[in-house]
Amino acid sequence: MNTQSVRAVSRVVRGMPTSDGAGVKLTRVIGQPRLSDLDPFLMLDEFGTDNPGDYIAGFPDHPHRGFETVTYMLDGRMRHRDNHGHEGVLVPGSVQWMTAGRGIVHSEMPEQQEGRMRGFQLWINLPARDKMTAPKYQEFGPERIPAVDLGGGARVRVIAGRAAGVTGPIVQPATDPTYLDVELEPGARLSQPLAAGYSAFLYVYEGTVRVGAGASAATVGAHELAVLTDGDSVQIEGREAPPDGTLNRAILVAGRPLREPVAKHGPFVMSTREELIQAFEDYQSGNF
Ligand code: FE
Repeated sequence: MNTQSVRAVSRVVRGMPTSDGAGVKLTRVIGQPRLSDLDPFLMLDEFGTDNPGDYIAGFPDHPHRGFETVTYMLDGRMRHRDNHGHEGVLVPGSVQWMTAGRGIVHSEMPEQQEGRMRGFQLWINLPARDKMTAPKYQEFGPERIPAVDLGGGARVRVIAGRAAGVTGPIVQPATDPTYLDVELEPGARLSQPLAAGYSAFLYVYEGTVRVGAGASAATVGAHELAVLTDGDSVQIEGREAPPDGTLNRAILVAGRPLREPVAKHGPFVMSTREELIQAFEDYQSGNF
């Protein structure tokens, strides 16, 4: 691309209510019939409820191979433990970027904190060459995620990538991700560079924003995901604050598409059918 262009909204998708794990109620935004994937992003779930009955059974032991799971907590806690001895608790504002690689078996159990539990889980594919890499975690508490005040009522937490010259803690060269948590007062604006050719989406979780420039700008409301067209930046403006006093809040996510064949079934995301069968066999024989 040799001219600068501001990304627009190519489509707006609402999530589908579903349940996963041991009956956790959640909203699946990517990885459902209206948006099956957005290479390299395979799945986006929003979980958010004030009713502990919706989540307390959690996600008991289950495997993953061949991709990364990214959990970002807004409210409540997530206690996790895997079969390699890694365990801990994600508190509000923390992120766990788990590279499942050749395989882990873990549990993810939400815990109440003043009754609320809210956050996201994003699945990001790994290139074929990295699918059987050793499992690893990049896990950061809220104090390790830089918060940038952009002025004019715009604030950003930088989980991955760069915003206003500040770099987030996550390192993942393969997909080179950007993951920003954006907060906009009414009329506040964010202009964020995003590499041309990268897939990008904005998911609004509170309030309403305008996305794009000039006549092509589109309004995106709470619990809507905007798939962005190609371009080298995005412009977002906060609309009126919701009557309940919350602000306009969204996650802005972008990454380099892998453009590789995907063979996936449940918690395994490989490149070929043979590798999927091998994943089942390895899991069942206890080789994760
Ligand atoms: Fe999991």
